[in-house]
Amino acid sequence: MYNIYSINGLIVSGDYIMDKILDNYLYDAFANASDNIFIYVTDMSQDLTRWSKKAVDFFGLEGEYLHGVKEMWLNQIHPDDRQVYIDDITAVFNGKTAQHNCQYRVRSRFGEYVWVECRGSLILDENGTPAVFAGIMTRLDNQNKYDALTHLLTGYELLRSVIDKSGAVLLVGIDQFRKFNTRYGIINGNKVLTSLGKMISEAANGATVFHFHGDEFVVFAKEKTAADLQAIFRKICKMCKEKEENEGLVSISLSAGIVEFDAGSYISDVIEKAELSLAFAKDDTNHIIVYSDEIGAKQTRKNTISENLLRCIKNDFEGFSLVYQPIINNKGDRVVACESLLRWNTNNPDIGPCYPGEFIPILEGNGGIIDVGYFVMREAIKQASKWQKEYKKFNVSFNVSYAQLEDPQFVPEIIKTSKEYGVDTTGIVVELTESILAADTVMVKQSFKLLKEQGIQIALDDFGTGNSSFWMLHNIDVDIVKLDQSFIRGLDESGEGIDYAIVESVGLMCNRIGCKTVAEGIETQMLWNSISRFEFEGLQGYLFSRPVNVAEFELLLEKYGMAL
Ligand code: C2E
Ligand code: CA
Ligand code: CA
Repeated sequence: MYNIYSINGLIVSGDYIMDKILDNYLYDAFANASDNIFIYVTDMSQDLTRWSKKAVDFFGLEGEYLHGVKEMWLNQIHPDDRQVYIDDITAVFNGKTAQHNCQYRVRSRFGEYVWVECRGSLILDENGTPAVFAGIMTRLDNQNKYDALTHLLTGYELLRSVIDKSGAVLLVGIDQFRKFNTRYGIINGNKVLTSLGKMISEAANGATVFHFHGDEFVVFAKEKTAADLQAIFRKICKMCKEKEENEGLVSISLSAGIVEFDAGSYISDVIEKAELSLAFAKDDTNHIIVYSDEIGAKQTRKNTISENLLRCIKNDFEGFSLVYQPIINNKGDRVVACESLLRWNTNNPDIGPCYPGEFIPILEGNGGIIDVGYFVMREAIKQASKWQKEYKKFNVSFNVSYAQLEDPQFVPEIIKTSKEYGVDTTGIVVELTESILAADTVMVKQSFKLLKEQGIQIALDDFGTGNSSFWMLHNIDVDIVKLDQSFIRGLDESGEGIDYAIVESVGLMCNRIGCKTVAEGIETQMLWNSISRFEFEGLQGYLFSRPVNVAEFELLLEKYGMAL
């Protein structure tokens, strides 16, 4: 009779070793925790070992409970590694070291040797006699099979999958996860990934789940259809909502791409289509897209445009030019500014007409925006300098993407170019769309500072459309606010309604903080009438003029009496 002190200080009588330790739930929990881990517990008095089922399967052992562990196991170890093992285990039993900890090769049931790391502890009874020897063996060859964070299969394992039956995959991604990480920190980001992984596994209903990479998870289901996987996705979203409500979790939104596949398809092709569908799903109101040929065609167009854009950039900005749209004062009798807008004439019948709304995001995606941004800046400054000499003063603005502000060369280059063309920098305006993510970086803050020092003005574009307009206003010394078209469009003749309230408040607020205001999208006389009472400094829209080339713009300047 002896007592054993377990980790939790629980004293277990020797009679109960097999009952309480070898047969308990905890053992089962550990034994099933991972395919990579095998556990064993030996009752030394009886020389009886219990192996986990996974160990029995993997090493081809005769059963879960085996007598004579030493000889049996030694026989299983690679002949070259037996001495290492014997030395280590002897040191434990002689009391020289507290823990068995060594790496060696063991034969699997298929006859191949795999590397394992074996860690074990010896527990003595009150007389100092070995009572229990227990430990864990970890497969080292297989370490990357499971992701350490979510304990799900990795993307690498996904790409090793063989498609021998038809079925479907679901690729789930978290919307704006980068932003989430920046806002709440990586640790909270990891918590979200872990809990999402669990929810997906639960909802997957037996289908295999992979943590593909980053914030993307894959449910791989043979003999299932797109509709089945849509149902799984709905379930995942529902679980997320419930968790949010019950546990007060920060809200996240998910998007998904679904692809059906036939037997014999390549997994890499299927995943590529799923990625594509997910990318489109993020812009879709339902946040879910089932792959179709139409999606494929959209992507093909995007790729063609992308390749052509890069080729044109290389060809000395072939096809790129600027057009200018006037910004008129509230009374409608003077040009107070103009916005430079990029155009791209492809001359490619495969592409056809292509506007900034389509090609700018592609340039931002393929990195071309940096070079094109320099082109736009140079052209706009050159033009501004010419106009400053020939006409009464008006501001010239150009649009800048955040990626450009993160380029340390960009602002110094603006300054250099301004000097080169002898432009009065107080007439230059940089238009930026809000983005809390980028605006927080040291480089971007430094860029703003440099711009201000040169007297260059900063305009906050599309004000009110993002979710950080006020944050931007608070954190950046903005000179001009451009209220987005969507608010202007809602102004009807009634003079009432939410859009009136918003437009009026923005006007008042900007007035209060000394910010000039521009209203975009003035398309009709009615809108002009509605907006004029708010006294915005600038009005921009098709009513006054569409964006036009230099010659046409100069005609407008004459019309508004801007000649010196
Ligand atoms: P944005 O900066 O908001 O530019 C205003 C857009 O509204 C322009 O579209 C202009 O043509 C359009 N617009 C002006 N008045 C009206 C109106 O009365 N009604 C309507 N419906 N639209 C009007 P555009 O030229 O197609 O440019 C679209 C967007 O592409 C721009 O929006 C800007 O975000 C981006 N973009 C254009 N040029 C550049 C550039 O050189 N660099 C960067 N980074 N982005 C650019
Ligand atoms: Ca703009
Ligand atoms: Ca705008």
